[in-house]
Amino acid sequence: MSIAEIKEHLIKHGVKPSLPRIKIFEYLISYKSHPTADEIYNALASELITLSKTTVYNTLDLFVKSKITIPILIEDNETRFDANTSNHGHFKCLRCNKVYDFDYDLSDHNIKELAGFEPREFHTYIKGVCKKCAQNAKD
Ligand SMILES: [Zn+2]
Ligand SMILES: [Zn+2]
Repeated sequence: MSIAEIKEHLIKHGVKPSLPRIKIFEYLISYKSHPTADEIYNALASELITLSKTTVYNTLDLFVKSKITIPILIEDNETRFDANTSNHGHFKCLRCNKVYDFDYDLSDHNIKELAGFEPREFHTYIKGVCKKCAQNAKD
């Protein structure tokens, strides 16, 4: 996504495309690392000298409300963010703390107990040890 496309994407979702908002969204789509608000702040603070932590928090809040970012609440004490809003699962490695994406569309599954229910959001979280860390442990 180019800067122009990000602008368009924000406008389409009712978000005024200010510079910090564009930069924060660009960070989310380019790193795909599921960063926390603090990680985003630390990464952008040197480039946007007027950026405050409050702006980062408020911007992420606005992105979530505008449905262009999803919060990942895999741990009680940290919220991570993802600009990929399609249905997919997250695997958190307990050793390296990385969060990996995996294709998993829960909306495809027919859950007997939920017949007649209207699910609106799908979150799939798995915790464990990633391939890299599992291999390192063996070396
Ligand atoms: Zn790992
Ligand atoms: Zn993700």
